[in-house]
Amino acid sequence: MRLILFGPPGAGKGTQARQLVERFHLKQISTGDLFRAALRDETPVGLEAKGYMDRGELVPDSVVNKMVEEALGAIGNDHYILDGFPRTTEQARWLLGYLDEHDAPLDAVISLKVDPELIVQRLSRRRTDKETGAIYHLDFNPPPADLPADRLVHRSDDQPDAIRTRLGVYEADTRPLAAIFEQEARFAEIDGVGEIDEVQGRIMDALRTLGARGIEATS
Ligand code: AMP
Repeated sequence: MRLILFGPPGAGKGTQARQLVERFHLKQISTGDLFRAALRDETPVGLEAKGYMDRGELVPDSVVNKMVEEALGAIGNDHYILDGFPRTTEQARWLLGYLDEHDAPLDAVISLKVDPELIVQRLSRRRTDKETGAIYHLDFNPPPADLPADRLVHRSDDQPDAIRTRLGVYEADTRPLAAIFEQEARFAEIDGVGEIDEVQGRIMDALRTLGARGIEATS
């Protein structure tokens, strides 16, 4: 199965991707996570990405595309879910060309729709376990009580100024990709507001409706 989860920052792509990974035994390719790992390891890509990430801006397409090409190649171009990529027309065109070249078409692109007001509220209360990458919300999906406080981080780009920049970038550069996916892939937009399992159920329904490969095996 080859999937893309699409939508604004804070729409729940990472949280939903983690459930889909378990259910369908997929590899989650999150470009944001890859950049954060590169930054922790102080690789050249991580150091190049740092300034853009801190400001909530996009890392240049050539850097992102190369990283994704390596990640996809490493897993044989199948059984993955892309989260946070593509984010620009250039990235989308590159990806569609790459998949075409490798005769490995997408099974589905699922777009999660969430109101911007709610996103600001979600991101400012979001916390991440820096060791496992698990994502929590202080009110709606609180971290386990026994999780050591120093493992829980509030991402620097989840602060109000960076959130506003990221939402602006999404509107200007990323949202227009929906039209490309609508034309070139099996595309569905679903309501991303609700309990985690409720949204997951909507994603499953959309995958069934779109006839994604591998969906038959699940109840
Ligand atoms: P995320 O965790 O997906 O919100 O990504 C965090 C940050 O990493 C973004 O604000 C960008 O600076 C960078 N980033 C992640 N994915 C991409 C992408 N596809 N294109 C450009 N920059 C990206």
